[in-house]
Amino acid sequence: MTIPASTPVSTPTAPLVRAEGVHKYFGDLHVLQGIDLEVGAGEVLCLLGPSGSGKSTFLRCINHLETIHSGRIWLGDEIIGYQQQGTRLVERPEREIVRQRRAMGMVFQRFNLFPHRTALENVIEGPVRVKGMSARSARERGTELLERVGLGGKLDAYPRQLSGGQQQRVAIARALAMEPTLMLFDEPTSALDPELVGEVLTVMKDLADSGLTMIVVTHEIGFAREVADRVAFMDGGQIVEIGTPAEVIDSPRHERTRAFLSRVL
Ligand code: ADP
Ligand code: MG
Repeated sequence: MTIPASTPVSTPTAPLVRAEGVHKYFGDLHVLQGIDLEVGAGEVLCLLGPSGSGKSTFLRCINHLETIHSGRIWLGDEIIGYQQQGTRLVERPEREIVRQRRAMGMVFQRFNLFPHRTALENVIEGPVRVKGMSARSARERGTELLERVGLGGKLDAYPRQLSGGQQQRVAIARALAMEPTLMLFDEPTSALDPELVGEVLTVMKDLADSGLTMIVVTHEIGFAREVADRVAFMDGGQIVEIGTPAEVIDSPRHERTRAFLSRVL
């Protein structure tokens, strides 16, 4: 019996996120040209691709910061932003959209911390204000989260007293404090000095290992190779190729993927 050189990607059970035929325009610009994608619960998907290919827009469509022109995006068994009414899809009421969005944590290139609040205050703001958690429980939980991202000694520091890498770790803890079922990362290390990238990637790897479902837009090919279950390469508003890191990064099938990788590797 021969063992296939490349074993098939094990498709995780029920997808947590499912995009089907997603199209998005900005005016005449056709930014997403039919995105189909499934991300399983507990899966880490890294999204690679050149600047302008639509990666950020796609993430923003997943959490409904942008609306799509056609197609569907599901989180679990709910369509994001819309609901079925009879045979038609209608937009969900705002409070429903807010509820759906809360299930998703997002970490951007820029940390967007509140400058006049300490690390801990930044982390507990959401749970207290939005989830109605008691200040005491929120502080306990917030402290644990900051310890988890390696900032147990910086609870009372203000953002300006922290390095970029530390600020980004606070931003990650702040997103986690809302107990999201899905984390979206949009180039979380791109704005950091090179020596600070590693500490943020280490935290993200720890989250991945803990079973959190993550979609990570990144140019960190080493991280994608080590941490991703699957890697998708996006270009021109389409997913050109998707597979295991070994498939997409080490033996890409498409010329466009090869050209991109040769520029970033
Ligand atoms: P990426 O994250 O892969 O660099 P983006 O999703 O940011 O790509 O952008 C995809 C394309 O959409 C680019 O051509 C960009 O200029 C355009 N774009 C993004 N956001 C907007 C917007 N709000 N209005 C108009 N064009 C936009
Ligand atoms: Mg982007």
